[in-house]
Amino acid sequence: MLDAPQLESIDQRARLWRPKRVVITRSAAVLDHGRAIAERAQALGLSVERLSSDRLPFNQPADPRRAYAQAKSTLAVVVAPPGKLKFQPIAPSADWRVDPAEGCPAHCSYCYLAGSLKGPPITRAFANISDILAALPAYLGQGTVTSRSADRAGEGTTFEASCYTDPLAIEHLTGSLSALIAHFGRWDADVQLRFTTKFAAVEPLLGLDHRGRTRMRASLNPAAFARFEGGTSSVADRLVALRRMADAGYRIGLTIAPIIAAEGWEEAYGGLIDAVAERLAGAPPQADLTVELITHRFTPTSKTVLESWYPGSDLDMTDTRRSEKRTRFGAVKHVYDAATMKALRSFFQTTIAARLPQARILYWT
Ligand code: SF4
Repeated sequence: MLDAPQLESIDQRARLWRPKRVVITRSAAVLDHGRAIAERAQALGLSVERLSSDRLPFNQPADPRRAYAQAKSTLAVVVAPPGKLKFQPIAPSADWRVDPAEGCPAHCSYCYLAGSLKGPPITRAFANISDILAALPAYLGQGTVTSRSADRAGEGTTFEASCYTDPLAIEHLTGSLSALIAHFGRWDADVQLRFTTKFAAVEPLLGLDHRGRTRMRASLNPAAFARFEGGTSSVADRLVALRRMADAGYRIGLTIAPIIAAEGWEEAYGGLIDAVAERLAGAPPQADLTVELITHRFTPTSKTVLESWYPGSDLDMTDTRRSEKRTRFGAVKHVYDAATMKALRSFFQTTIAARLPQARILYWT
């Protein structure tokens, strides 16, 4: 475990979240990992409220802005419910979703968690990581993404850890990402752990015995669109972090997401890809750079939630240049229209091929 001076030195180099309120439920407090999270928080000078039950005692202010601010500055250490131990398929990113936490302290005005998290957007870290690890082997060899794609067959069964959280944003408090990476490193099987992040504090991960079974992707947008990504690390810092991970033997990737067709997008994304090429020049070949391309989309529910969370955002969620798409469950999604999609896709394919010839594009959506 890191001691307070080590945590402080990381804090000086990276933008680490310090929740205003940390609570731990009764059941979480008796678990080793729950206790370790509480100790980490205390080592950072945070006080930890120990609850006498497993119910989170949150009285939400009526004002939605205050309710949002209060929830976003709270870390709750809880036991993951049984449903979290039954993994869901998560194409096209990975075979299965594994959640070490739920919620994120950042403030992205397009956040994909809006509308999918139940209740206030507090960050819940799961104390029963050992139960989560114990559930993994049942899914070995059962994925649909890697088994159906010749391009990805070499990855083994893949598990995505960043569907409901940014695990690096809270790693200094939880240690859960390190626990997952070390577990996959010890696991003598054809598997890969994947996570994507808008944060840069990778120091605790660099020395882990990962055995090449983890791929970190930096989730990126051009600096020109930084106004949509409040509370995250700068793009330049994320790229430094990605290079450090490559140099530490990890596989790496880019999640360019969400791709936003705002004015000046072509120049902005061109500059971003140039910055990536410069930062990754000479990276070790085992880094096996991959790229995932995800265009901006929203649902009526996520739009309502995001507009209440970020009323001042100029992120375009109107019908301009949008088409409606139906998911297989019948829900409506607003995606860019065909002409915009075509222009974006062609730009990214051409630009990546020219400037990052070593990269493999895994998917476009
Ligand atoms: Fe949402 Fe990711 Fe931004 Fe966190 S970093 S607020 S999970 S989009």
